[in-house]
Amino acid sequence: MSEQRVLADAYGRVATDLRVSLTDRCNLRCSYCMPAEGLDWLPHPEVLTDDEVVRLITVGVRSLGVRDVRFTGGEPLIRRGLVDIVRRTRELDPGLELSVTTNGLGLERMAGALAEAGLDRVNLSLDTLDPKQFATITRRDRLDDVLRGAKAAHEAGLTPVKVNAVLLRGVNDAEACGLLAWAVAHEYQLRFIEQMPLDAQHDWHREQMVTAEEIFERLSREFSLSPASEPRGSAPAELFLVNGGPAVVGVIASVTRPFCGDCDRVRITADGQVRNCLFAREESDLRAALRGGASDDEIAQRWVAAMATKLPGHGINDPTFLQPDRPMSAIGG
Ligand code: SAM
Ligand code: SF4
Repeated sequence: MSEQRVLADAYGRVATDLRVSLTDRCNLRCSYCMPAEGLDWLPHPEVLTDDEVVRLITVGVRSLGVRDVRFTGGEPLIRRGLVDIVRRTRELDPGLELSVTTNGLGLERMAGALAEAGLDRVNLSLDTLDPKQFATITRRDRLDDVLRGAKAAHEAGLTPVKVNAVLLRGVNDAEACGLLAWAVAHEYQLRFIEQMPLDAQHDWHREQMVTAEEIFERLSREFSLSPASEPRGSAPAELFLVNGGPAVVGVIASVTRPFCGDCDRVRITADGQVRNCLFAREESDLRAALRGGASDDEIAQRWVAAMATKLPGHGINDPTFLQPDRPMSAIGG
């Protein structure tokens, strides 16, 4: 049995929420995430095997206080071992909160198996309900598959189905209210996320970003929004009751009102690097430790050391800000 530690940093924050990227590959090409031609994917041998992924999660849960595990990517549903990885993670502890962030392609087929394996819920990404607009934003004509995936997840009990939407100025920003009406009607919980400088093309421009304040103002034209009673805590979304509730909508002001002071996250990339922040410029190589024969305790120590250097904030609003080398899809959003 290895020693119990926590993933604490120098600012008193403790990470208990682990984001595990299962692949950097994707079957969509969202314009704010990656270029039309895709990226240079990680070579297969560099990607952690299913056993390696489960071993790192086991160390996180058993020795380091991890309580939430979110599988992401790239697109996690294209990882062949996903259901098995979920099942093995669930077997570690029935009390863990397990979720997947997905673009929804293939979810219709997999939702039942994921629920049966012990997944609690899904976060589905969807920025528009217009098929043409969907094809423009994601460069693939697949809106129907995503809508069917959301429905299947809801029916499989992977609830609340949270829907993440990024608004792009002059593209889909006029759809904010339409998206909310749709989400409320289907009992999905919609959350708008400010666009962040994490695209592979480095095309992010502050003036183009639709701010949380603008989103709130747009939604308020058609809905009455009042603060939901729960305090925001380490959850990044500011939640509002829609027309008095019970439906809620979230607005995640990652750029204009950063929540770094309450951050409880840590990330592992598909090639086994610990990142203590989405915007970190340094990583710590747990794959080398794994493949070099390190014990669980040695892996835990290396992971703890990686957290100690976490910076107080992401620095997007500093004049000296530098975008991290890896884009969002290769980090795990
Ligand atoms: N492929 C899956 C998906 O789309 O849900 C998981 C990975 S994706 C990188 C995770 C989330 O990051 C998605 O909700 C996506 O909209 C969001 N995202 C990607 N690039 C972003 C950016 N530049 N700013 C804000 N959110 C972004
Ligand atoms: Fe793929 Fe998700 Fe990036 Fe869209 S946001 S290209 S679905 S990884």
